[in-house]
Amino acid sequence: MNTYEQVVELAKRRGFFWQAFSIYGGEAGFYDYGPLGVLMRDNITKVWKESYLRDEAVFIDTPVIVPSTVFRASGHIDKFADLATECSKCHNKQKLDTVVKASGFQKTFRSVEEANRFLQENVVKCVVCGNRITQATEFKLMFRMPGQGSSGDLYLRPETAQGIFVNFKLLSNFYRNKLPMAVAQLGKGFRNEISPRQTLIRLREFTQGEIEVFVDPERKYWKEPAGSMPVNLNPRSGESVSMDVVTALKNGIMSSNAMAYFVEKTASILTEVGIDSARLRFRQVPTDELAHYSFDTWDVEALLDDDWVEVVGIADRNDLKNHEKASGESMSVLVDGKSITPSIIEPSYGIDRIFLSVLVHAFYVRDNGFKVLRLPDEIAPYHAAILPLVNKDGMDSMARDFYERIKRVDPYVVYDQSGSIGRRYARQDEIGTPYCITFDSQSTQDGTVTVRERDSARQIRVASQDLLSTGIIGNEKIRSAFRSS
Ligand code: AMP
Repeated sequence: MNTYEQVVELAKRRGFFWQAFSIYGGEAGFYDYGPLGVLMRDNITKVWKESYLRDEAVFIDTPVIVPSTVFRASGHIDKFADLATECSKCHNKQKLDTVVKASGFQKTFRSVEEANRFLQENVVKCVVCGNRITQATEFKLMFRMPGQGSSGDLYLRPETAQGIFVNFKLLSNFYRNKLPMAVAQLGKGFRNEISPRQTLIRLREFTQGEIEVFVDPERKYWKEPAGSMPVNLNPRSGESVSMDVVTALKNGIMSSNAMAYFVEKTASILTEVGIDSARLRFRQVPTDELAHYSFDTWDVEALLDDDWVEVVGIADRNDLKNHEKASGESMSVLVDGKSITPSIIEPSYGIDRIFLSVLVHAFYVRDNGFKVLRLPDEIAPYHAAILPLVNKDGMDSMARDFYERIKRVDPYVVYDQSGSIGRRYARQDEIGTPYCITFDSQSTQDGTVTVRERDSARQIRVASQDLLSTGIIGNEKIRSAFRSS
């Protein structure tokens, strides 16, 4: 089993995520988050949200069901589609790109006609049964509710962004008509993917965290990036480099200050939540692969075993002009006497894929075969487990009493009294709990406890009373003993 497969097995067994509706055989592309998954996902989105609050973004929440007028204006009804193939023998449906690549060709197509010409002239085979594929079709990716709206169809939104664009004027007013302005939304997106697969990677219902940064199209300026961290860049043309974004901007690799700023910010958020920077890269999307709304996009990709998976897309887009034209409402702001219809730099975070990548990058197996999740303290579902060494001699009542009290300081703790202490440590390591607080016979005499750290398995002794005033992951003695790097 590769790491991804081991993580998927662990995730189901220990309550992170699993296939939805499985008692009825499941439905492709839908997953449930279990008790630990919900806690961990919330921790990831908290880091994301607080980072953008620090950048003075405002957050809104708009409906997931959207009238067709919005998606006609945005171009989604016409253009948000993939080219698909269906095998005439085994009826397996796939994205055209996937089957063409599996048959050894590197090619993208602009139209069904172009694809069909290629399929007639080249031998492309079904990835499941090997039958020759000769036909491609256009497959619309939005879920449609025909005739349910007051003036036509309704759609489940494939991105949260349009809810922000259509509110641009109200938001600009809220922001006192200043540019640049950043508006964020965290919520569900829906795409009727041709072949949902790989658990959380290709879902039909998923969570996005999107930030629409409205900028003057002539400057595309947000703030100065720090330029202090090198990031792995794969530009559209030229060699891959590890370089800080300030240098990349000077060298013309980054097209604008705002793009450079949000590339750096994204690298910083992703590493903070636990993605390994050595397995993270920024790939500038080739022009013929760009989404219909974008002029320039950097895909942020995490390496999962041997596959690079897009976890965030940072796009340069221009949707306000489309809504201005279709709605007749002005989408411009007056800045220093100049009327500006802003451009948009959009970092769009796929929360599920980030969540999965964090688990894959955190996973390792000890020499003794025990599995561990090396999650950052703030991302782990629980900060600590409270354990009596044995369930007698006052250790259990003291541990239980401490647990009841520490919960008021830090509710992300769990009590575990069943099985040997070694088993309990292993159980906590496997779900990423960074610290185990154990009450032993010395605890009943002097009120101290052992604090065992997950990765080193080292222990220190601290006064339990101190933990009640500082919390566990906020305790300086614990931090300096184990997190000095
Ligand atoms: P896009 O608008 O296609 O750039 O998507 C933005 C982000 O949403 C991507 O980087 C992914 O992380 C995430 N995403 C897109 N489609 C899916 C999907 N079908 N399942 C899970 N996440 C997705």
